[in-house]
Amino acid sequence: MTQTNIPDSPPSNSPSPATTALVIGAGQAGGPLAGALAGAGWHVTLIEREHVGGTCVNEGCTPTKAMIASARAAHVARRSGALGVSAGPVAVDLNGIVDRVQGIVRDFREGSRAGVLKAGVELLDGQARFTGVRQVEVTLNDGGTRQLSAEYVFINVGASPRMPDLPGVQDVGAMTSRDLLLLRDLPTHLLILGGGYISLEFAQLYARLGSRVTVVEHGERLLSHEDEDVANALQAVLEDEGVTFLLGAEALQTQREGDEITLEIRRDGETQTLTGSHLLVAVGRTPNTSGLNVEATGAKLGQHGEIQVDGHLRAAENVYALGDVKGGPAFTHISYDDHRIVRDALLRGSGREVGGRPVPYTLFTDPQLGRVGLDRQGARKLGRPTRIYTLPMSSVARAIETGETAGLMRAVVDDATDLLLGATVLGHEGGEVMSALQLAMMGGLRGADLRDATLAHPTLCESINNLFMGKPETLSGTEDSG
Ligand SMILES: Cc1cc2nc3c(=O)[nH]c(=O)nc-3n(C[C@H](O)[C@H](O)[C@H](O)COP(=O)(O)OP(=O)(O)OC[C@H]3O[C@@H](n4cnc5c(N)ncnc54)[C@H](O)[C@@H]3O)c2cc1C
Repeated sequence: MTQTNIPDSPPSNSPSPATTALVIGAGQAGGPLAGALAGAGWHVTLIEREHVGGTCVNEGCTPTKAMIASARAAHVARRSGALGVSAGPVAVDLNGIVDRVQGIVRDFREGSRAGVLKAGVELLDGQARFTGVRQVEVTLNDGGTRQLSAEYVFINVGASPRMPDLPGVQDVGAMTSRDLLLLRDLPTHLLILGGGYISLEFAQLYARLGSRVTVVEHGERLLSHEDEDVANALQAVLEDEGVTFLLGAEALQTQREGDEITLEIRRDGETQTLTGSHLLVAVGRTPNTSGLNVEATGAKLGQHGEIQVDGHLRAAENVYALGDVKGGPAFTHISYDDHRIVRDALLRGSGREVGGRPVPYTLFTDPQLGRVGLDRQGARKLGRPTRIYTLPMSSVARAIETGETAGLMRAVVDDATDLLLGATVLGHEGGEVMSALQLAMMGGLRGADLRDATLAHPTLCESINNLFMGKPETLSGTEDSG
């Protein structure tokens, strides 16, 4: 998120019923905010060009996690022999999987739409663009335009997959994450450009469904924001399941040849041509600001097209930007929390800012990677001593019992206070265990409290005891400063 300074809006914690608002985009902030403001007596118009619920519900979290559940079922059935159970040959029905996933999406979407309407929000199906200060023109989906203005404007237009500047990419039928979720024929060989979080979830998912998968990544290693041993452990798991990684690879061009797509890459100084049936482009996402003309309302764009905001999410006087469109961590829970910050400022006089809030996340590979706060590489640069506790999942009783021993748990504590500064859990249900450690952080628990806590046996979380019973590595916090 880019920080900028906006003068304070007029006091507005007791808005009159006549206060008017436009909410552009019904994502994870726009819908809930529109409902909350309408519930407080505001007149709210919500403008959505496609689906209420936005990316998460329609083409992000919900469909991917529902589909990952099917892929895991196939994986568990295939490896059931290791647990002494014979499941027979595994057949994947992609049509059935997509039907199930899209059914869940439809329910969530309809629920979101019904929710905003029930809250008394005026919902316009159309595309908004600014024409002046807090003035927009809406091109309605069923024809015609409307000119609207309001005292407050909230922008929650999200982001879209970025297409790289790769010769041929527009002509080969390259797919985005959104397209892939609707595909009903299993790719024989899925090439994935980019090795980030979205890429890795799809790589494992399609490998488990039965596709050959090759990931082409520019960086020399995966997930540079994570500790190297964690990224390497996850790579090893995916390789074990048949995913091929070509790291340090530069994509040069792509072409369609009949049913096949070729991708030319340069790696270690040599040119190599890969051939696949499908190409997924997963090289990042771009804020949906092109054509929005936000400058007309006094907002400024950063160099990646993100709307610049201050700590209270203000982009201009009485204009706010929430969620992915402001840049920074692009997660559903962050967008949702943005709505709480703005709602509480306007309706309850709260002064909470975005700075300092925890930014947890989970990568839904299997094992999951759950992360909050500092990891080991962050602790190296902290500037004060820390202790790093690491426990391999192969030492976790519950993981051994269930045959899910890949990964590790890691916690960083402040050496002086014993307070938790961060947790990384690569393991079965790693996101859940990380969340338990996040709650401990939020509650101000110390490493010693967690070591001595009585936790139910044999849960994964019980091994938090063992994590803090181990011998920690001590870091001075100045390891990377020269
Ligand atoms: C494949 C994938 C998997 C993901 N998995 C996770 C996950 O597991 N966990 C997680 O936390 N996050 C995940 N994310 C990220 C998450 O989906 C987003 O961070 C989240 O949806 C927040 O988005 P938002 O509220 O900023 O906007 P969005 O949800 O993107 O909503 C923006 C809305 O604005 C509308 N819009 C855009 N422009 C206009 C306009 N001019 N006029 C009117 N309407 C407009 C769009 O149609 C859209 O409905 C995933 C994303 C993807 C792509």
